[in-house]
Amino acid sequence: MKTVLTGIKPTGEIHLGNYLGMVQQLSDLQEKHKSFLMIANLHAQTVPYNPKELTDLTFELVSSLIALGIKPQKTTIFLQSDNPYHPYLSWILGCLTYLGELQRMHEFKEQSERYKKEGVGSGILMYPVLMAADILLYNADLVPVGEDQRQHLELTREIARRFNNRFGKIFKIPEALIPKETYKIMSLSNPLKKMSKSLPEGCLEIFAPEKEIEEKIMKAITDSGKEIKYDPQNKPGISNLMIIYKYLTGKTLAEIENEFQNVSYVDFKKEIVKAFLEHFSQARALKRKIKKKDVLEILKAGKEKAIKTSTPLIEKIKKITGLKV
Ligand code: AMP
Repeated sequence: MKTVLTGIKPTGEIHLGNYLGMVQQLSDLQEKHKSFLMIANLHAQTVPYNPKELTDLTFELVSSLIALGIKPQKTTIFLQSDNPYHPYLSWILGCLTYLGELQRMHEFKEQSERYKKEGVGSGILMYPVLMAADILLYNADLVPVGEDQRQHLELTREIARRFNNRFGKIFKIPEALIPKETYKIMSLSNPLKKMSKSLPEGCLEIFAPEKEIEEKIMKAITDSGKEIKYDPQNKPGISNLMIIYKYLTGKTLAEIENEFQNVSYVDFKKEIVKAFLEHFSQARALKRKIKKKDVLEILKAGKEKAIKTSTPLIEKIKKITGLKV
């Protein structure tokens, strides 16, 4: 049995990219492995945010994840802020991480450009170090994530190796699990950018009202030509929709091409709307039944388990880094 850990930021409602990139992988892995799902609320603070919204989104996110198949009896769901060892270890690891390494991260470059006007907090720079702490604190073997996290995971591995060389072999070197085809679901409004909460018009939130889902899919940017053919280089819009449809229905790309020969883009999109609502109908019904009280209980149990699991490792780290007297 391996240890699996992943996280998600409560910066918006859960979207199809989160689901196909991470949640689906975790819901399979939790059946065989010791699994942790962290609500990355400290990471959410790296960009300007509203405290009340952060709390509300945290509740929403936990109930969405449960409705989508993350089982609290199999996966420890907890808040990053509930285990103080996360920022604690982040400090220790940060002292081993070079400034140049952090400044080279794509996410850092993108986010610091985006928040140039408001001022770029140092949390944006330190983001990957906290992420390394999140993963290494539980000695995770496997980290299911989307492609956007590949570089951060590589840095985590480098930091772990550096720590082990310097102080003694404490950390396992974690492995990123990035799905083959759904590693990067693209925005419906711009198929050259990833689907993300920061591009709301192209972001398909799983629990949005039906009307909004229909509108977003019907407005999805497609490509010139009429053919429904998988060709990510020349037809990024249609290819993205085909990948989405494939994972909603379980059909192969060849079956989809065959089924939609001589079918218009509009009719194909109507089928995607249908498939989407069908695929998530059970989750949408389940989410309505989850109460705030249930979420609080799950997070309380998650907090205890997270602290209990990470304490022995932190004690060892204190000792070998000279912090314990
Ligand atoms: P975030 O919403 O940034 O906290 O991401 C939570 C998880 O979803 C991470 O594992 C991301 O890599 C994954 N993810 C986010 N957006 C996408 C996307 N467009 N396609 C695939 N995976 C994604």
